[in-house]
Amino acid sequence: MTKQAAFLVLNAGSSSLKFSAFRQHSSSDELETLLSGQVSGIGGTARFEARGADRRRLAEHVWDEQDSRCRDTLLQYVLHWIRTTLVDDEIVAVGHRVVHGGRALGKPMRVSPCLLDELDRLIPLAPLHQPHNLAPIRILAKRFPDLEQVACFDTAFHSTQPWLARTYALPQALTDEGVCSYGFHGLSYEYVTGQLLARRPDLADKHIVICHLGNGSSVCAVKGGQSIDTSMGFSALDGLPMGTRSGSIDPGVILYLMREKQMGLEALEDLLYKQSGLLGVSGLSNDMKVLQEAESPQAARAVDLFCFRVAKEVAALAASMGGFDALVFTAGIGENSPQIRARVGERLAWLGVKIDAGANAGNADDIAHADSSVPVFVLPTNEEMMIAKHTIKVLGQMMGNA
Ligand code: ADP
Repeated sequence: MTKQAAFLVLNAGSSSLKFSAFRQHSSSDELETLLSGQVSGIGGTARFEARGADRRRLAEHVWDEQDSRCRDTLLQYVLHWIRTTLVDDEIVAVGHRVVHGGRALGKPMRVSPCLLDELDRLIPLAPLHQPHNLAPIRILAKRFPDLEQVACFDTAFHSTQPWLARTYALPQALTDEGVCSYGFHGLSYEYVTGQLLARRPDLADKHIVICHLGNGSSVCAVKGGQSIDTSMGFSALDGLPMGTRSGSIDPGVILYLMREKQMGLEALEDLLYKQSGLLGVSGLSNDMKVLQEAESPQAARAVDLFCFRVAKEVAALAASMGGFDALVFTAGIGENSPQIRARVGERLAWLGVKIDAGANAGNADDIAHADSSVPVFVLPTNEEMMIAKHTIKVLGQMMGNA
């Protein structure tokens, strides 16, 4: 029996490796999710978990401490498990999430030794993420030299942003060497924009604000299907307070901490990336669901601050675009928390937003009140699906050119 072509998507982080496999229907462009899962706890006690398309758990595995540190071993296990599970399919290509494509890489690219060198040069722009994203690409390239791989960048969707949105008021020489705003969560914004415009083609030329609210959070202004501004900037620290990241703070705070508290690079990195945000303010948790259910005043303050800052960033993007015609919530908090959506909506009432309490409580996809002058949607994101689509497109173009 001829096997069907399947596409693997890998999203490798510092302590986790998420994977999904997709199959393309021969009769349409639609993709079917075959399975997904992750290896978590890499470097500590690594744990494998995989689920089928129906979210049913298919397999679990726990490694000993030594194997938990070896990314090669963990990746081999995942590949072997996928190959023996998907007996009717053959993995023909792997798509990777890569956080940074710099200024030059504004679209997904087929992996080559040249591209890997270029992506290595971007490590200083995302030192905590880029090396982890590149590690499995290199492992696979070495073990399976004929396997096609495609790198999809979180920054790429924002490459359309105008100079005004990208530029910091720093000396030009720094801007020239790449100290500017890049923006992240691009694969999520691209996917959600596609979903929205498929549903509402009349919004294609309108001003849309998408709120990606998850562990990492940002907002993005989209017009004509393209990103024109976003709250994250040079790094994924900027903009909204997140689970453990500070979001925007006065850069003077960093100078103060260096001068008065003698904090060095590692201490500052730990403070801003790991000890701040919802965790820092609440002193309790980085998890929005936990904070909403907690009864402590500190937890309530962290939630208040989050809603305040989301509304403020949405309004900033509205100013950046000269108004907005649709608001979308996505990602873990955006898709699942009626409370956060309601509170952000209340703060945006002066911009014409009114959320319908009943639809919002049920996580409906259209939650605008009949009196709202702005449509408001809840649309699930799917970055893995976006990567799979890009992978298929890049390979299609390559074959077309062959
Ligand atoms: P990541 O950025 O890691 O992909 P997610 O998009 O999965 O994260 O978002 C995780 C966040 O979503 C967590 O803060 C979690 O508490 C929050 N979340 C998930 N479900 C709910 C819910 N029902 N109510 C409030 N917050 C939720």
